[in-house]
Amino acid sequence: MSSPSENDAQCHHLRGGSDGDTHEVFNQPDPLEDFNAYAGDQALQDAVHREGGGDFEDRLEHYGAVVGGELLEVGFQANENPPKLKTYDRFGHRIDEVEFHPAYHRAMQLGVENGLTSLTWTDGAGSRVARSALIYMHYQTEAGTQCPLTMTHAAIPALRHQPEIAKTWESLILSDTYDRRFIAPHKKEGLTIGMAMTEKQGGSDVRANTTRAYPIDQPGPGESYELVGHKWFCSAPMSDAFLTLAHTQKGLSCFLLPRWRPDETLNRFRIQRLKDKLGNHSNASSEVEYHGAWAQMIGEEGRGVPTIIAMVGETRLDCVIGSAALIRHATAQAIQHCRGRKAFGKTLIDQPLMKNVLADLAVESEASVVLAMRLARAFEEGESDKTSALFARIATAAAKYWVCKRAPMAVNEAQECLGGAGYVEESIMPRLYREAPLNAIWEGSGNVQCLDVLRAFSRSPETLDAFFAELEVAKGADKNLDAAIFDLKEKLTNLEDIEFRARRIVEAMALSLQGALLVQSGNDAVADAFCASRLGRGCLMLGGLPSGLAIDEIVERAFPV
Ligand SMILES: Cc1cc2nc3c(=O)[nH]c(=O)nc-3n(C[C@H](O)[C@H](O)[C@H](O)COP(=O)(O)OP(=O)(O)OC[C@H]3O[C@@H](n4cnc5c(N)ncnc54)[C@H](O)[C@@H]3O)c2cc1C
Repeated sequence: MSSPSENDAQCHHLRGGSDGDTHEVFNQPDPLEDFNAYAGDQALQDAVHREGGGDFEDRLEHYGAVVGGELLEVGFQANENPPKLKTYDRFGHRIDEVEFHPAYHRAMQLGVENGLTSLTWTDGAGSRVARSALIYMHYQTEAGTQCPLTMTHAAIPALRHQPEIAKTWESLILSDTYDRRFIAPHKKEGLTIGMAMTEKQGGSDVRANTTRAYPIDQPGPGESYELVGHKWFCSAPMSDAFLTLAHTQKGLSCFLLPRWRPDETLNRFRIQRLKDKLGNHSNASSEVEYHGAWAQMIGEEGRGVPTIIAMVGETRLDCVIGSAALIRHATAQAIQHCRGRKAFGKTLIDQPLMKNVLADLAVESEASVVLAMRLARAFEEGESDKTSALFARIATAAAKYWVCKRAPMAVNEAQECLGGAGYVEESIMPRLYREAPLNAIWEGSGNVQCLDVLRAFSRSPETLDAFFAELEVAKGADKNLDAAIFDLKEKLTNLEDIEFRARRIVEAMALSLQGALLVQSGNDAVADAFCASRLGRGCLMLGGLPSGLAIDEIVERAFPV
């Protein structure tokens, strides 16, 4: 390899010539391609085993290779070629179709065929954790398709509020076939489901919904209605059906609204336009109107919010998983880059300050995935165990607030590790960065999650008991953690001004929980760094880990290959 000064001499000598004659390309890292998102992620593997998903190891390793190979490739294509709305066909018929690039369909197909929409509901113990690990990996290289994959998976518990309707839809929703055809649902081999709640005048406060539902014949659960109104955000509008909310005489109720009516004519579901979004470009998000759209009531009339919450709880868990995934992939990209690039005479990863940044990112990443996988197990166990269900109820809101809020900062920090290259689309970092704020906004924004934590324990104080029981197990392992748990209890003894202080409280809950999980997880280096920096006297920016920690071990543990 010639040195820069030899290069200079060559350039001077050649004076032009063909491309490549002017300089030699060197000091550029290998791209992170053809990696295995499972085999190359020690923290994920440990979390999956700890939380009971180990029986699915082969499946996870298989999908890990897909994620770091084909999905990575189609992810770029799907995001460079965003969906287009076709309101009318060439003859002027209203069709309300969204056209996607073949790469989008391939990403969807990979997700559906590999169980991302179904595994939780079709397999036994550990399947929830395994499916969470699958979507965690998928999200890293193609986040836009996570939205329809997540909603399809999440629809099942809400639909089961109306068993006879669930029976006719469920087998096709749980099919491992992705069927992209825009035809009546009973003619398809697999279905996807969306969710439409948000209206112009209110998203967080769905009680402000104005859409109305009129019974066609009899009113009540399972009966047919016509819906009139709109939804301001409706993602994945080519889904086969949507769980949606509308008012009847008895109040806000939940409905299943398909794209096709039972007589196989197009339902009166009109797509006004697609949103021009900051990121999430492969996914279509639309504004829609219901012009007397046919739908069936799901669950009790007037109890629409509790019914659809069964779906929202699931999608909130996936927001936590998705943000953890973004942090992981950004960290992996940063480490890969810094291992292959030198500055000021040393590989970047060996520069002490960069090592601190990378280690801190690795700590953030592991703290996020440990929490996400613990929640996944709580969801699974919560089906039969009350304490797990109570823990999941409160910890999901706290984690949704915290992990989703941490993602933009962590992704940006990782992006900066690549220098200018991190600002260039080919690196994937700009896409991760644009994606990063989204999980905090949808499915209940930050403040809404904090208020939900307060609501959980004010309505059911047992949720807080279940939460502290989880922390109690870790007591004595780290003095900073013990102090944080003590402090959290103190904060909760005084309920005055609690809404104003909600972010402080929920942050303290999330950090204590992450600390408690990490000290039990077996990796002392990561746990010590987390407790010293997040629960002790920390630094507001990442890259401020205190001295004396096992930094090399932390960074090496996070190597993606
Ligand atoms: C890309 C994208 C796709 C989406 N897809 C869908 C979809 O498919 N289906 C769907 O139904 N929705 C979807 N949404 C909508 C999303 O769920 C809402 O935007 C979100 O729930 C917030 O609602 P809003 O926009 O009406 O904001 P608002 O409800 O007006 O909230 C604005 C801000 O006020 C805060 N706030 C609200 N109440 C309080 C309070 N009491 N105290 C303190 N702060 C408060 C919120 O946290 C938020 O920060 C999507 C959004 C995006 C960005």
